Amino acid sequence: MPELPEVETLRRALLPLVVNKTCTALKFYRKDIRFPIPKTTLHKQFENQMVSQIQRNGKYLLLKVSNGAMLWHLGMSGRVALQVSMSPREKHTHAIFQFGPETFLHFIDPRRFGCILWVPQNGKHPLLDKMGPDPFAPETNAAALKFRAKNCRSPIKTFIMDARRITGIGNIYACESLYMAGISPKRKAGRITLAEWERLISCVRTTLENSISAGGTTLRDFFDPSGSAGYYAVKLSVYGKEGEPCPKCITPISRMIHSGRSTFFCTICQRK
Ligand SMILES: [Zn+2]
Repeated sequence: MPELPEVETLRRALLPLVVNKTCTALKFYRKDIRFPIPKTTLHKQFENQMVSQIQRNGKYLLLKVSNGAMLWHLGMSGRVALQVSMSPREKHTHAIFQFGPETFLHFIDPRRFGCILWVPQNGKHPLLDKMGPDPFAPETNAAALKFRAKNCRSPIKTFIMDARRITGIGNIYACESLYMAGISPKRKAGRITLAEWERLISCVRTTLENSISAGGTTLRDFFDPSGSAGYYAVKLSVYGKEGEPCPKCITPISRMIHSGRSTFFCTICQRK
């Protein structure tokens, strides 16, 4: 599944192709992906409008024009391929956006958990309204998170993976950040101190940033020739390492299940 770092890399790769450019043609090959595609609205509001910026919120991308934004989510298996024309169109291409004589963005999503939507100028959309802030947003700070977690009895791992609290932290990044911060994934979110929140948010950002810098810088680099979106070869300390020695204290890494997801951690470095 494309995680926040892959989406941020895609955003950066798209910037030179899309920003200050005009989408001259949109083509849709389905009525819906996860949700119905608002074709008429997109043709009316997005086509022939100059894109002013691409904003990312969690795993959502917003391609902004003067009267609103086109919203993309890649779901479980979505990707965007850069082509020089409308064809060849590979299987599961649901939409194509033309931004120049040889710039065609093919939106491909075999499992169809992704979406293409329209967000009006006021930025209101039911999908976005339910979402917590992005980990890199200024409002994501220790005081705000401590306040959000007040009286929360869920484990901290579950809390930071809940997109309604803070958006875009996948399982790998939650495990690695908690390890880096030396916080037990089992701790109740409501019991995390201000100093620990400070450490944790800083570790979340570092983990995500390391992964973003491991990614490619252009769309052509971003997708390997076979067309699969590359997972970044980030150096992992605990994720997927059950039984292997902890890099800090050589205790074998433990695994447990939280909300149906595997959690990897060190019982010594993360005892608190
Ligand atoms: Zn350890």
